[in-house]
Amino acid sequence: MTNEATSTIVTEVACPLCGHACDDLSVDTAGKGLAVVANGCDRARDGFARLGGVPTDASARIDGKPASLEEACAEAARILAGAQQPVFGGMALDLNGARGAMELVDLAGGIVEHINNEFGWRASRAVQDGGGINTTLAEVKNRADLIVLFGTDAVSRQPRFFERAVWVKESMFDFDPSSRRIVYLGAGLNTAPGVSPDGRQPDVFEFDKTRMPEALSVLNALLAKQPVAGEAPLGIPLARWQELADALLAAKYSVLVWTASAFDTPQVDMNVGAIAAIARKLNVTTRCNALPLAGNDGDSTMGAVHLWQTGFPMRTSYASGTPKFDPLQNGLSRLVANGETDALVWLSSLNDTVAPPATGLPTVVIAPPTQKLDSEPRVFIPVATPGMHLTGHFVRTDKVVSLPLRALKKSSLPAAEQVTAAIVAKMKEVGA
Ligand code: SF4
Repeated sequence: MTNEATSTIVTEVACPLCGHACDDLSVDTAGKGLAVVANGCDRARDGFARLGGVPTDASARIDGKPASLEEACAEAARILAGAQQPVFGGMALDLNGARGAMELVDLAGGIVEHINNEFGWRASRAVQDGGGINTTLAEVKNRADLIVLFGTDAVSRQPRFFERAVWVKESMFDFDPSSRRIVYLGAGLNTAPGVSPDGRQPDVFEFDKTRMPEALSVLNALLAKQPVAGEAPLGIPLARWQELADALLAAKYSVLVWTASAFDTPQVDMNVGAIAAIARKLNVTTRCNALPLAGNDGDSTMGAVHLWQTGFPMRTSYASGTPKFDPLQNGLSRLVANGETDALVWLSSLNDTVAPPATGLPTVVIAPPTQKLDSEPRVFIPVATPGMHLTGHFVRTDKVVSLPLRALKKSSLPAAEQVTAAIVAKMKEVGA
């Protein structure tokens, strides 16, 4: 029997490793890393084991040579003080990290870009143009009788989506969750999690993802009772499309699941706009909501903090002292490729698997000691991870809940926000 006073297992832990933000993990803190011993998924088990370690030999570096934290922050401050338009990338941070980053951006000027924002800004633009109606995970769990997934299987983005939001044991209302109907649109998806607990197979409309705009046009046309050319749009009998349109009209609460990164990049805004149009049509006679699967790598957290603190979305330049929002011009890749930035700061305490772009720019990386690097940056400062070594907050995919993150293991490494505060202080010392 486990003695609670001496147990090394912490229960009801929230996980910041995808936007689903499950809050039911049990984590053993006894070993070198952190071991997820109940609930969780492969991503959580790997991530807690890798990021949750406390290496004793992790030190800051300047040009690959060990440096004190103070020296590294002073060098980062020197780089930023001399930069006209630095770009801040990565940005996989919790709320405190994001707040700290924005203080540094405010002082240094420059542009903020999250690793997932290449898709995110396109989706936001579609919603800016035509509006959108989104739902929450709780509504999906309690009400959804028909779930249609557009180009995504959900689980490759948020592994426990079906376990936690779909095939739940009970709902709050007089509705049996196992009776839900699941429909996938697109090819190459993992449809096994869509099989109901009693073995009912999901419907799969298989076609290449670059043809998603056609599929959405067919559905929108049928819902508007407009004619559709051909007997088999995208090689699928028209009668099947008609049956799906009728099912959406007959459903009491349908949910349209999408994720921008699953679409062909230039088609993101078109597809998101067409999904929003389906929801608008259906809400004339019944209820239908979209569910964008967001929040991975803290993208919703960073987006929220950026908006709260500046009133603008990411891809706004503060280089001139006046905010200039330009999502087409202010993408990190374009700025780097065109020589329109003169320093790169990569901040990422939640994702160590995406390497900062290897550029000729003076680069400062503030990330876990396990951070993947394609080349040695000018300055590297290792930091602890929120939800593993530090308390914090993380905005969930549906943006209505911010989960509190817990400190499970002590680390001697600083938090990202302590590092950015130290750089700000150094910049102020030199009057930047
Ligand atoms: S589904 Fe996401 S939030 Fe849940 S345990 Fe897995 S990685 Fe963590």
